[in-house]
Amino acid sequence: MDTKFRAVMMDKYELGKSIIIVAHPDDEILWFSSVMEQVNKIIICFLGSLRKPDLGPSRKAALDRYPLLNVTCLDINQSDIFGGANWINPTLTDYGIAVPNRPDSASIYRNNYFEVRQRLAQELLGVSTVFSHNPWGEYGNKEHVQIYRVVKDLQRELNFKLLFPSYFSNKSSSLMLQNIDRVGSDTIVLKTDIVLATQIKKIYQECNCWTWYNNWEWLSEDTFIREQGREDACVPLKEFEVFPLNFIQISFVSTEKRVFKNKLVPAITERLTYIIKKIVTYFRTKTN
Ligand SMILES: [Zn+2]
Repeated sequence: MDTKFRAVMMDKYELGKSIIIVAHPDDEILWFSSVMEQVNKIIICFLGSLRKPDLGPSRKAALDRYPLLNVTCLDINQSDIFGGANWINPTLTDYGIAVPNRPDSASIYRNNYFEVRQRLAQELLGVSTVFSHNPWGEYGNKEHVQIYRVVKDLQRELNFKLLFPSYFSNKSSSLMLQNIDRVGSDTIVLKTDIVLATQIKKIYQECNCWTWYNNWEWLSEDTFIREQGREDACVPLKEFEVFPLNFIQISFVSTEKRVFKNKLVPAITERLTYIIKKIVTYFRTKTN
């Protein structure tokens, strides 16, 4: 960050009293590398996983080797809620995104909301600015959406400024458009710290807990958008106003397509096979 811009940021967003809040270890370097060294603290919410017992210890080992001293982890188990949300027609709940197809994990996901909220309420006292996940969970991650919901809820009580990164993907685009009215015209473009991010990525990879693409290449700049909302007095977007969004193309099969592929296609095939067998049997009987 150049000196002049840093001075503006220090003045407007009081970076010395600011915090990054992310869901998982590695989110901080993927979406916030440009401000990691400027903020007062980086809080990571989730560490372990009941489904993947090795993940927590691996992540702990990586955090023990972390080159920055301002990182702390709430050490809450992630909800392990894979699939289940409808990203084509998404519905937001108080706790994150609705997961109608995974009622088994939904209660863990919901409980995590309250646990994270309770823990962060203490951490955010006196904080001036929070950098955290965006309303559509960047590329479309349910726990990123959840952390956004927690932070947004706490903003009503604690009144900090909220900035989120502008990343989105083909998976999260519907949710992004649903929430476009949250975007304010106050956007900040900052140089990503690729050297630092690559150094920390290597630690995560060596500890077997890098959860993103191995060939991921950082853009040269992050864009942060200031949340528009009643509690936050920033200026809403005007008609024809342009603002930058960073698009990520990911591999994504919608729930509907997955249901079609995994359930409907075998059911239709089975039914057709049955009908063809019946027809063959009928003609065989006739010719005999
Ligand atoms: Zn994450």
